[in-house]
Amino acid sequence: MENILHIADLSKTYQSAGRTLTVLDNINFSVTAGSTNAIVGPSGSGKTTLLGLCAGLDRSSSGIVELNGINLGNMSEDKRAQVRNQYVGFIFQNFQLLPTLTALENVMVPLELRGERNIKARALDLLDKVGLAERSHHYPTQLSGGEQQRVSLARAFSNQPKILFADEPTGNLDAETSEKVIKLIFDLNKEAGTTLVVVTHDLELAAKTQRIIRIKGGKLVSDEKTSVNV
Ligand code: ADP
Repeated sequence: MENILHIADLSKTYQSAGRTLTVLDNINFSVTAGSTNAIVGPSGSGKTTLLGLCAGLDRSSSGIVELNGINLGNMSEDKRAQVRNQYVGFIFQNFQLLPTLTALENVMVPLELRGERNIKARALDLLDKVGLAERSHHYPTQLSGGEQQRVSLARAFSNQPKILFADEPTGNLDAETSEKVIKLIFDLNKEAGTTLVVVTHDLELAAKTQRIIRIKGGKLVSDEKTSVNV
């Protein structure tokens, strides 16, 4: 199977008060197109940093990050943004919707940035997919956490991403709402073949994926298939 993501000898360090802090230490793994993967580990172990590097949101200190065969290693922020626009969807624990824009406008932003046509109709379509067409004119503060996360999913789906990165997507949601959001994410994987890489504390969510990668103290400590069929 084709690899959509390939990580080799990946490290990330920060300089702080004259000292070098190693946050990720020589990480290696590849992700097959269409697969579902969880990254788990204690708080502060480097999961969010790792996801950001994989998605091209941030730049590594050393090592290789290849997304869809494109090496993000030495790319400028602008070039990485282009690759993200083309292939990547990203959702965050705290949704990261723009507060001054309605649900519809939030979903329209990436469509507009890509210079697409009929963006209003397409954004409405996307909101409909996540069951929020009737909330399109609501602002983020007028929506529940679950609704905000569904808007952010509609936004993430807008470029039909090859790979969806999700950082604690259910971290701020109650159990019932989490179920809805998780179902939408896995439906996208089943229907469109979108690869999923999710950082989570929720072991039930992790167990729904095909593979669990465990990070501790910036190192990959285990990488195991679950009983979920490929
Ligand atoms: P996790 O997602 O597993 O909780 P993070 O990736 O958020 O872990 O953070 C890993 C470590 O990197 C933490 O110790 C954090 O303080 C440190 N860190 C993250 N970002 C920065 C930064 N910009 N500067 C310095 N240290 C950072």
